[in-house]
Amino acid sequence: MSVQDQLHRYLFENAAVRGELVNVSNTWRETVKNHDYPAAVNTLLGEMLVATSLLTATLKFDGEITVQLQGDGPLSLAVINGNNNQELRGVARFKGDIPADSTLKSMVGNGYLVITISPEKGERYQGVVGLEGETLAECLEDYFMRSEQLPTRLFIRTSEKGAAGILLQVMPAQETGKEAFDHLATLTETIKTDELIDLPANEVLWRLYHQEEATVYDPQPVIYKCTCSRERCGEVLKTLPQEEVDEIIAEDGKIDMHCDYCGSNYVFDAVDIAGIRSHSLENSDRLH
Ligand SMILES: [Zn+2]
Repeated sequence: MSVQDQLHRYLFENAAVRGELVNVSNTWRETVKNHDYPAAVNTLLGEMLVATSLLTATLKFDGEITVQLQGDGPLSLAVINGNNNQELRGVARFKGDIPADSTLKSMVGNGYLVITISPEKGERYQGVVGLEGETLAECLEDYFMRSEQLPTRLFIRTSEKGAAGILLQVMPAQETGKEAFDHLATLTETIKTDELIDLPANEVLWRLYHQEEATVYDPQPVIYKCTCSRERCGEVLKTLPQEEVDEIIAEDGKIDMHCDYCGSNYVFDAVDIAGIRSHSLENSDRLH
């Protein structure tokens, strides 16, 4: 039986450095099942799930983070959404052959890493960095240096069994010696892929940091969850030109909406469409 995916946060007492350890193995399996992605795309999505979970955990507010890779390569888009409840989902679009030994750059081509932070209250923030690093982790470290000037290290590992990772970050507005941070990063780097993915979190943390003074907080579950719903599809339908919708209904008798993330289908017939329209009329009446 597999253990539930979890995120652990911890804080080093003497260094003003925070850490996060996450395992997203089940979430990864849920995200890629039924998609038939090439192996290299599967692996990249696993890495992106780890990264998105770790990034979301650094938020100080309720909201959502989208981590997106886009470019002119065979992998035109890979995107993961995550929120403060550690609910994750993702999807990729590709064309042609993607060999198993593909690198990030050979898949994405000339492209970007786009991080969108959408707080529930407040303004949306978007950061874009070129793919300067060889790996997703390096690109994200670059992003943190540019956008927040926070020294950050990410350790992301995937195997056939799962995906897991660690983030180390200097606490904002606190003095941390470079030596202290580098020391913790060097310790963290010693973790083997199998250990990080297969061992219970407490054991990983003990192996890495038993000589350090660290506070480990209660873990948070990480789950796969798609945010699509019939209601949200209805909202989208409302934004389409009425004639276009009527034309499809006249031709097919229904509108079939498909979620690229989870594969759910939502079917709307003429009666459903009429219901959506009268509902939105009521709403607009109320505004006047
Ligand atoms: Zn969905």
